[in-house]
Amino acid sequence: MQNLQRTQRQPVDAGVKIQVEAEAMQKLWLWTDFAKGEVSCLGLVDEVVSSETGRTTALIVTDFFLVKQQCTYEETDMDVADIARLIAELESKGIDSRKLRCWAHSHGSMSVFWSGQDESCISGLANNEWLLSLVVNKRRDTQMRLDQFHPSHMYIPDVQWEVKYPLVDGLAVACFDEFKTKVRETTFLKRTREDQLVRRDMILDELDEASARGALTMEELDDELNWLGIERDDFEQY
Ligand SMILES: [Zn+2]
Repeated sequence: MQNLQRTQRQPVDAGVKIQVEAEAMQKLWLWTDFAKGEVSCLGLVDEVVSSETGRTTALIVTDFFLVKQQCTYEETDMDVADIARLIAELESKGIDSRKLRCWAHSHGSMSVFWSGQDESCISGLANNEWLLSLVVNKRRDTQMRLDQFHPSHMYIPDVQWEVKYPLVDGLAVACFDEFKTKVRETTFLKRTREDQLVRRDMILDELDEASARGALTMEELDDELNWLGIERDDFEQY
């Protein structure tokens, strides 16, 4: 069933940057579009560790691989033997197969969420360590999840992530130059202060006019001025 009401989600900052390289993401979108229903793939994840602190600062999905699988409109079942084949193939190329730490799958035309089946697939693939999971659909909805299984199972069902675009030589400098030439930024503070003063003058004009018409008693005028934080003497000078 299609979920027509899209509620605003608030992905959580996992305290580590999570990215998927643009070309890998493009492969996932292509397979998502080719599939009638669901489809799965496995991703290689680079763990970026700070040399200063020894802490992981980023998890970057660098590539996705398709393995043999049985799929329906609601299910995707990867062939275990073909996952083993993929692992052997990576190892033969000198790629550490323990970096296969992302499972991505598409829900086809359905909404994105974590089903009971997805949960058991995640714990199977995580192998008692950690795993990134990405669920997408044909409408380009996405949801990223981070699970850890040691020392206990904890997960964030909706983490912040982004596509990592390749660096284009000179693009940052060119954009910066164009921005500096065409965009004039006034400070927010100044604008607010100006707005406040304009608004204050408008109210004072109105009060002045109202008291001249006799529409305001002295008491009411005092109340209004008091509320605006203006002394009676200052108002009369104004
Ligand atoms: Zn699913």
